[in-house]
Amino acid sequence: MFKAVMIEKTTDGAQSVSVGDVADNQLPEGDVTVRVEWSTLNYKDALAITGRGPIVRSFPMVPGIDFAGVVESSQREDIKPGTRVILNGWGVGEKHWGGLAEKARVSGDWLVPLPDRLTTRQAMEIGTAGYTAMLCVQALQRQEVMPDKGPILVTGAAGGVGSVAIMLLGRLGYHVVAVTGRPEEDAYLIGLGAKEVLPRQAFSAPGKPLDKARWAGAVDVAGGVVLANVCASMAYGGVVTACGLAADMSFPSTVAPFILRGVTLVGIDSVMCPKDKRLAAWTRLAELIDPSKLEAMTSEIALDDAVNAATSLLDGKIRGRVVVRVS
Ligand code: NDP
Repeated sequence: MFKAVMIEKTTDGAQSVSVGDVADNQLPEGDVTVRVEWSTLNYKDALAITGRGPIVRSFPMVPGIDFAGVVESSQREDIKPGTRVILNGWGVGEKHWGGLAEKARVSGDWLVPLPDRLTTRQAMEIGTAGYTAMLCVQALQRQEVMPDKGPILVTGAAGGVGSVAIMLLGRLGYHVVAVTGRPEEDAYLIGLGAKEVLPRQAFSAPGKPLDKARWAGAVDVAGGVVLANVCASMAYGGVVTACGLAADMSFPSTVAPFILRGVTLVGIDSVMCPKDKRLAAWTRLAELIDPSKLEAMTSEIALDDAVNAATSLLDGKIRGRVVVRVS
């Protein structure tokens, strides 16, 4: 038996969530079984656990879109028992049982070896949020947005993606401007590496198609009107990486920033991201993270606390990252 968070459909069509024991023979198909040491609570996990977003595609479901642990058994020649591994995405925690459990059985194709420099806990302090932040930073760099080009805007700054993005960009020497709805987090954001902090209200009301040209690059987790305003205030040739919908899924923009300022909008997806890009992101994360800053942005919970923490996360009450101690 192993302990797991389980989401089930109730007879009235709603869902219930519990933490309990599950038999090993209930584990889904897969050629590698992992003893999960740490998982995390991401925005998507919170939507799945609370039922506030249509994340779970089949029931019963163990949530948890990421985990880090040790291979317990493997039918693959290339993945030996005892190997330390990370998993992000691939529909795990959505349509395949996920990481909020002491054991997970998955396809070996989905696993990334843990970089030597990281512990399994650090890998989950980074988690899918941090790996997505790295994908954003690498996309900016592929588009030649280097520190000398100008300031980089990061929205949802005090959340998981935002916090790690600020830490990475700051470490790389960018002038980072953080956007937050929580003014009480200004000192935290400056500590992570932001040079300036702006209030979220400056971006949340519908604005002009083009505004003052200010940013060389942007990491946007918000979507909606916020993303439209970010695009409108990009400098000539600026690059926006869009990875989230914390404000809204819509994109009420015009083509003006794209055809008059040559702005580029780059979509970032971590879930189906090809393996070579994942490996490159994790390798770079291991080089760039500051363990003490990472620890300072992380809170730890037990598997039993995941349900309550999910509500707090969606209510914007959690700063940075949440790791879940599994075993
Ligand atoms: P968090 O909940 O940790 O952070 C989200 C942050 O967004 C909040 O902390 C808040 O920051 C800000 N925010 C909340 N509501 C609004 C609003 N109405 N308008 C503007 N900003 C708002 O989530 P994550 O950082 O884990 O994820 C952020 C987003 O990125 C989510 O939409 C998530 O689904 C997406 N995501 C996408 C991935 C991909 O593969 N594309 C992978 C991972 C995440 P503050 O208080 O500082 O304003």
